[in-house]
Amino acid sequence: MTNACNALQLAQEQIADLDLQLLKRKLRSTESPCDTKALVNGRELKAFCSNDYLGLANHPDLIQALAEGAAQYGVGSGASHLISGHSIAHEILESKLADFQKQHIPDARALFFSTGYLANLTAITALARLAPNGSTSIYSAKLNHASLIDGVRLASAQTKARVHLFNHQDINTLSESLKADQSVLKIIVTDGVFSMDGDLAPVKRLLEIAEQYDALLLVDDAHGFGVLGKHGHGILEQENICSDRIVYIGTLGKAAGVSGAFVCAHATLIEWLIQKGRPFIYSTATPPAIAHTLSKSLDIIEGNEGSSRRTQLNKLIRIWQDEMHFAQWEKVPSCTAIQPVILGSNANALLAAKLLDEAGYWIPAIRPPTVPIGSARLRITFSANHSEADLRQLIATLKTIEQTAIQKTSHE
Ligand SMILES: *Cc1c(COP(=O)(O)O)cnc(C)c1O
Repeated sequence: MTNACNALQLAQEQIADLDLQLLKRKLRSTESPCDTKALVNGRELKAFCSNDYLGLANHPDLIQALAEGAAQYGVGSGASHLISGHSIAHEILESKLADFQKQHIPDARALFFSTGYLANLTAITALARLAPNGSTSIYSAKLNHASLIDGVRLASAQTKARVHLFNHQDINTLSESLKADQSVLKIIVTDGVFSMDGDLAPVKRLLEIAEQYDALLLVDDAHGFGVLGKHGHGILEQENICSDRIVYIGTLGKAAGVSGAFVCAHATLIEWLIQKGRPFIYSTATPPAIAHTLSKSLDIIEGNEGSSRRTQLNKLIRIWQDEMHFAQWEKVPSCTAIQPVILGSNANALLAAKLLDEAGYWIPAIRPPTVPIGSARLRITFSANHSEADLRQLIATLKTIEQTAIQKTSHE
């Protein structure tokens, strides 16, 4: 007889506990490509939940580019970038990505990563190591994405960097803290578009104080790249800012429709990431066929098609703002494709998601720890592939469902 496995028992108890708190998460498998309709368990749902803002994830030209890329480069890279995995397809992509930001970052160079999570871990930990241990201060926005939070935690564990959290709407307090800070290196870390609220970071003001107090400004534009700015170059284009203090991170699995991410900064900082960025150094390079596909995606984003897709997306955002009025639920002021509806309790959010599912919609409930406790919500996202009729139908359905939910919860 062997002993009962302690870990299994602990896991069972913890998962039961999550279930009781209505915090247990479930995987759902789709049976169709990512688009505005999704096939799940044989049912077709109207999907308003992906981050495929431009509707490129199932674009015929990109499907063709991926097949072409595989024929040209094979399916695997075979090694990390510094060994033999760095392909000419990666190099071409990186130079296009740097071109996107060259008016905003002097001597811009870009480094491609397999995911945004990896890009954030790499950038934050490597930059924190520019100064001796214990002499870096990191200022991190409270509502930052988990991958930034984990990057900051890892940097703090590895280099004893001091960590300060700030409220991104309270720049004065941040400015006071920076002013009093004697650290050798200061890094401000923020989402460009906050992923669960859809609002923008005040990057202009942040850059001003970064310049005033000699700090770096790291902006994670996962939800802005491809959609913000006239050419879809992202938040730096939209805000028309330029500085060698900016470290820009874009992800390529959202509006770009494929997979991956990049860090773009002054060439000297990128050289440092290549030398010291452990998650970059010790991870296998993304298949070059993906990089090849992404180059095609960038051409679409920057060209006329990208421009008309952004126009369509902005039209949907305007219709939502003008026509969606709730009796009790709370709409968040957001000018992006991310439009949350705050419901408060986990139970309310789950009920709303369930009623939407029954009405043929896929809009998941987002609960803590992804959002602060008591602010569970529906996270509605638009894609350029949604039509105005799709959106108006959603608005009508949500109004009906709100009434049903109010009746159900008031009878309890
Ligand atoms: C999605 C996201 C990431 C992670 O990017 P992946 O490529 O999906 O790993 C990082 N930051 C933000 C703000 C995100 O929304």
